[in-house]
Amino acid sequence: MTETGGARAGMGPRLRRAPAGGWRTATVREVDRPTPRTVRLRLEVPDRVDHLAGQHYVVRLTAEDGYRAQRSYSLASSPGDPLVELLVERLDDGEVSGYLADVVEPGDTLEVRGPIGGWFVWEGDEPALLVGGGTGVVPFVAMLRTARELGREDLLRVAVSTRTAAELPYADELRAAGALVVTTRERSGIRPAGRLTAVDLVPLWEPGQTAFVCGSASFAEAASQLLVGLGVPAPDIRVERFGPSGTSG
Ligand SMILES: Cc1cc2nc3c(=O)[nH]c(=O)nc-3n(C[C@H](O)[C@H](O)[C@H](O)COP(=O)(O)OP(=O)(O)OC[C@H]3O[C@@H](n4cnc5c(N)ncnc54)[C@H](O)[C@@H]3O)c2cc1C
Repeated sequence: MTETGGARAGMGPRLRRAPAGGWRTATVREVDRPTPRTVRLRLEVPDRVDHLAGQHYVVRLTAEDGYRAQRSYSLASSPGDPLVELLVERLDDGEVSGYLADVVEPGDTLEVRGPIGGWFVWEGDEPALLVGGGTGVVPFVAMLRTARELGREDLLRVAVSTRTAAELPYADELRAAGALVVTTRERSGIRPAGRLTAVDLVPLWEPGQTAFVCGSASFAEAASQLLVGLGVPAPDIRVERFGPSGTSG
């Protein structure tokens, strides 16, 4: 399995081609709350470096006393979108997510750096299986939007896991793309509450696909093991963990 950010010598042309940008002052243009615990921010980023689907930005907050905190957020927007879209889940006691979810308003400015990431990217030309848990669907929304723009929706298969249907961000968009949605805390149709299983993934997996897995550390581990159990070659599995990511101070 290949972890995100694993910059190694000889990793290949994909890493070398991935765009990267420096710090910018973004203006928040749109704020909405698609689910009770998430906020969707659409940002205008001056002199933006176009990203690839799967990449992320860092958002940096600075307090009046100079204290700084920064966190990573995946891009939900496609490269063709004039605005950059982030989807942030508010964590209890979360230093940065709480501010972004509850305080930020249209017209505010935010320091951002990006795009970042050279490996967890989909360039629109390879078949892929996308397996996401909770807000781990965010980079997959960018991939699906990119696929739509390219007319290559046929390349992507999607499976997502969420506690309840109401908590799944981008639920309509994911379902419209044919995503399998598994709910762990409530029944879904005739299916009882439960985790994603290998049986769920069998019809979605095809040889030649790259598998992208994104979510919490525990989800990423479990989903990766399912894929390995199905016989997906480890080098074909790319993993992004939404664990604690920032540096403060
Ligand atoms: C590459 C990358 C992309 C990411 N993309 C997204 C995204 O698109 N949307 C999004 O909402 N988040 C995303 N994250 C997670 C995000 O960077 C922050 O970790 C998250 O918003 C929490 O920051 P915080 O300052 O609010 O919480 P903190 O103040 O850092 O932590 C508060 C409490 O929550 C725990 N905690 C911290 N982060 C997490 C987490 N992710 N899950 C569970 N518990 C946690 C801490 O241990 C602590 O107990 C991404 C992370 C990475 C590494």
